[in-house]
Amino acid sequence: MFTGKTVLITGSTSGIGLGIAEQFARDGANIILNGMGDAAGIEATRRRLAETHGVEVRFDGADMSRPAAIEAMFRAIADEFGGVDILVNNAGIQHVAPVDEFPPEKWDAIIAINLTAAFHTIRHALPAMKRKGWGRIIQVASAHALVASPFKSAYVAAKHGIAGLTKTVALEVAEQGITVNAVCPGYVWTPLVEKQVPETARARGISEDEVIKNVLLAAQPTKQFVSIEQVAALAGFLASDAAASITGAVLPVDGGWTAH
Ligand code: NAD
Repeated sequence: MFTGKTVLITGSTSGIGLGIAEQFARDGANIILNGMGDAAGIEATRRRLAETHGVEVRFDGADMSRPAAIEAMFRAIADEFGGVDILVNNAGIQHVAPVDEFPPEKWDAIIAINLTAAFHTIRHALPAMKRKGWGRIIQVASAHALVASPFKSAYVAAKHGIAGLTKTVALEVAEQGITVNAVCPGYVWTPLVEKQVPETARARGISEDEVIKNVLLAAQPTKQFVSIEQVAALAGFLASDAAASITGAVLPVDGGWTAH
């Protein structure tokens, strides 16, 4: 479905971003992976995606908190692929603390990676999209783009900012064949979350089932995790021609969380 398209997914060395990369590779797109992690593991992932799906897969380790690194990544992509057709802004970090105890350097890092990086990737991606008269920008935001939780001030501020950026850019490029949307997952079962379950069970003296039901999924009416594949499927649909009229949308995939 996306043969000949080039997709950049920021933060795609694990979790949701890797799931989205897998989905676009399966659908025939060339993939630019990005993110942190062990070099050998990333290379194994890169090779597996390329060999399994018969597409070009590159890795660029640009640190999303560094505008110069983002710019250099886009120059390399322009040279090799002639630009990004589908941009998925997914890289993200979290820190949980009361606002009056929130470390300023954590605030700065979260705003840089979860929000400002999207401004930079969008401004570098748009010229090629405009030239082609086609483009898709998909932000992996969060239910926290729509509602808040205590102790996540920087994350919630960044994700609400992403919602505003999504709507603004969508209006600016609406007549140029480019759509801009945000997907807003609730709790997603990523390796990161999985690792927290036994630790939380020990810390609270409750069972792992109770952690899942009464701690992690307390806000999620379905009482089920959103899967990586469900988020990736929505991203794939938003990139398709069938979704050409969906733009400026901030779409929950949250098991009913934001219906409360
Ligand atoms: P994850 O930790 O598995 O993946 C995060 C990715 O971002 C990794 O590839 C990591 O290397 C990369 N990254 C971190 N800092 C980076 C930097 N400075 N430069 C480049 N890459 C960097 O987490 P995930 O759960 O897959 O989260 C992915 C996105 O989904 C994030 O934006 C997160 O806010 C969002 N999200 C996650 C959940 C959830 O429950 N897991 C829910 C809603 C939204």
